[in-house]
Amino acid sequence: MFAERVDGSKSIRLSEIPTNSDGGLSKEIAEKQTKALGDRLGELADLMYFAGQHPLLVILQGMDTSGKDGTIRFLLQHLNAQGTSVASFKVPTPRELSQDFLWRCHQDTPRRGAITIFNRSHYEDVLVVRVHSLTPEERWRKRYGHIRAFEDLLSDNETIITKFFLHISKEEQEERLLAREKETEKAWKLSAGDWKEREYWQDYQDAYEDAINKTSSPEAPWFVVPSDRKWFRNLAIVEALVQALERHEEGWMEKLEKIGTEAKAELAEYRSTQRGSGAN
Ligand code: ATP
Repeated sequence: MFAERVDGSKSIRLSEIPTNSDGGLSKEIAEKQTKALGDRLGELADLMYFAGQHPLLVILQGMDTSGKDGTIRFLLQHLNAQGTSVASFKVPTPRELSQDFLWRCHQDTPRRGAITIFNRSHYEDVLVVRVHSLTPEERWRKRYGHIRAFEDLLSDNETIITKFFLHISKEEQEERLLAREKETEKAWKLSAGDWKEREYWQDYQDAYEDAINKTSSPEAPWFVVPSDRKWFRNLAIVEALVQALERHEEGWMEKLEKIGTEAKAELAEYRSTQRGSGAN
């Protein structure tokens, strides 16, 4: 597959995973495949919605400018608005800070059949919090275990969990930040804070690497997505999502068939009583 799937069976080093892969594909071919997979994702998401058995949680994490917003725009082109929502996690409010770190995220987890995309997530509490020592080390260190337990709980409740790290190079980030200055239509995204955070690049890479290695499991895998090329990023993400959902397709079809058969039987019974009473 195009993204590096990490499911706990091995440890990864981010520095060994390229950020600029193209899968050996031209942009044109990749975009065709992305379109086909996007349509397939839409079909599967509809099936999931009507079967109403599994929630889908999509977690997006990455350095500033890594493309979280672009990924959300891309996914929403293919998903039914009825069953999809996005939850963005910013600097916690005083109310959020007065609770445990998972509280605000748990409230936004998807219900059965629905999809929620987390734009940043509970992982910030072992990323920015660790890099800037916003909480004592003995507290954030315990959070990897809390996160594993939280995701186990969601998975035991049949949530399909997919976690994406949008992997860009430091050079690519610089280009994207400079583009925001040059292009008027991107200037609204400018933030001196992004340049300041960039000084902590290696600390963030270390924190991401630890988070990925300590919280990957078959039920809650991480996907490290080479994201220097936006078109390849979209392809790798849609491929991973289609694969994650396809595993359940047969079960959803069976459930829908069963619902259909029951509805037909109920209708037939209703019609037979109507005939008996002379109505039509
Ligand atoms: P994005 O890059 O996701 O589009 P943004 O930079 O445009 O976001 P901001 O308003 O800056 O949007 O909100 C995100 C900021 O909130 C990030 O700097 C992130 O590190 C910070 N943040 C998120 N969760 C936490 C947390 N638990 N503790 C401290 N800071 C957090």
